[in-house]
Amino acid sequence: MEAEKVIEEFFSSVSADIWERAKKIKLLITDIDGVMTDGGLIYDDRGLEFKKYNVKDGLIVKHLRKSGVLVGAITGRESQVVINRCEELRFDFHYHGVKDKGKKLKDLIETMEIELDSIAYIGDDLIDLPIFRQVGFAVAPLDAVSYVKPFAHWVTSAKGGEGVFREVADLILHSKGLLVPIIENLSKKEA
Ligand SMILES: [Mg+2]
Repeated sequence: MEAEKVIEEFFSSVSADIWERAKKIKLLITDIDGVMTDGGLIYDDRGLEFKKYNVKDGLIVKHLRKSGVLVGAITGRESQVVINRCEELRFDFHYHGVKDKGKKLKDLIETMEIELDSIAYIGDDLIDLPIFRQVGFAVAPLDAVSYVKPFAHWVTSAKGGEGVFREVADLILHSKGLLVPIIENLSKKEA
């Protein structure tokens, strides 16, 4: 199938270890600024905040959830536009203004009863390192802070705001053999 060839080619440099890590994932948590966005913060003269998201990231959330992968966000900042976006995408949970992300994750795994091996996290800066250290699959965008990237298991080919979340979601779905069936199902002709 053509789509499968394209996917295999796109992910051709992904190691066996990364496919193994991705296959175990039951929960994908993402940072927002610098991952779902390019990290830019735009304010108007009334102090209103604006952000640019990528529709490619949003579109895959429902497929992840349908495939049994929960989706959440943990962000260090607190902003209404981010809360709105997380609600719109129907994230299973989203925490804002979190200063100690490592502690937040510990609290979460206790209440959710989920193994660390089955959690993936995407982050781009120092505040994300305490989570990187714990989860089974830590991912950084291509333009994450240079000295943060070596702590990630995998670095996406996309930069923040340019489809980082989509790349990770596609990798997870493909590792479970679920991406091609989604494409086949949506592209098949009506009988
Ligand atoms: Mg960030």
